[in-house]
Amino acid sequence: MKGKIIDGRKISKDLLNEIKEKINTLSSNQGIVPGLAVIYVGDDKASNIYVESIIKKCKKVGLYSEKYNLPKDTKEREVLSIIESLNRNKKINGIIVQFPIAEGIDENKIKWAVSEQKDVDCINPINVGRLYTNSVGFIPCTPKGVIKLIKSTGENLAGKKAVVVGRSNIVGKPVGELLLKEDLTVSICHSKTRNLEEYLLKADVVVAAAGRPNLVKGRMIKEGSIVIDVGTNVVDGKLVGDVEFEKAADKAAFITPVPGGVGPMTIAMLLENTLEACLRQCELKL
Ligand code: NAD
Repeated sequence: MKGKIIDGRKISKDLLNEIKEKINTLSSNQGIVPGLAVIYVGDDKASNIYVESIIKKCKKVGLYSEKYNLPKDTKEREVLSIIESLNRNKKINGIIVQFPIAEGIDENKIKWAVSEQKDVDCINPINVGRLYTNSVGFIPCTPKGVIKLIKSTGENLAGKKAVVVGRSNIVGKPVGELLLKEDLTVSICHSKTRNLEEYLLKADVVVAAAGRPNLVKGRMIKEGSIVIDVGTNVVDGKLVGDVEFEKAADKAAFITPVPGGVGPMTIAMLLENTLEACLRQCELKL
């Protein structure tokens, strides 16, 4: 293996320590503790594990958190009413909702309902608009983590070619936008792209976010590139990404593993955005 592993666990741990220190300063100097609320509907095991891990990390850094695990037959108006009360709750600075939410609930209504000031994963269309127009909002957590990992390589990014595999609103498109902001030339590939390999072979930076195990083969990777694997797929009970890791690592200069790459960054970014939301709401700077 030639490629250097981008260690998301280590990078996120360092970030969490920085966040913890800042929260410490904020609570000792101002008596303010940032708060995050997590809403999820249903009893999906993976969502439960993810939410528990958010709550655990909140405790670790000194963030206040509230969890709302609602039964799967919860009505839309009940979810909206919880969001409205959290929007008014002074102890809560950030709100996230786990998607997909549940049958019979209009996701769009939920997205619009989250206060734009507390929208720490950038789901409210107002903040989505801000993201694409260089205005101040929130950078969605997973894309923000992806960019931090790419920047952690220390490589000069301007002018490089990037290929993002996946065009979802929560990963592919915002990652593409953030890469544009870093002055890369970006192609976004998707399920209808003809000859993915042709694009990938030219890419200095690859971000794989298709949710298809082993879609990105080692032979498709350009020598010396940066490969970020966002995919989380369970195959034979094992968590794997979208990239054929071993073979890709022989070609890439830097590569993220799954698990231990993008995953840990997402929660770190969520806590960072919650701290940011709190500072903005209190009109403070650290
Ligand atoms: P999605 O299903 O909404 O979108 C997948 C995208 O991949 C689509 O745009 C589709 O066109 C594209 N695609 C599918 N098959 C393809 C193919 N054969 N060739 C090229 N493109 C193809 O998924 P999502 O929500 O964007 O998530 C993508 C992956 O990232 C999933 O595995 C998800 O679990 C993972 N994810 C991880 C984190 C994390 O924190 N690590 C966070 C969010 C999503």
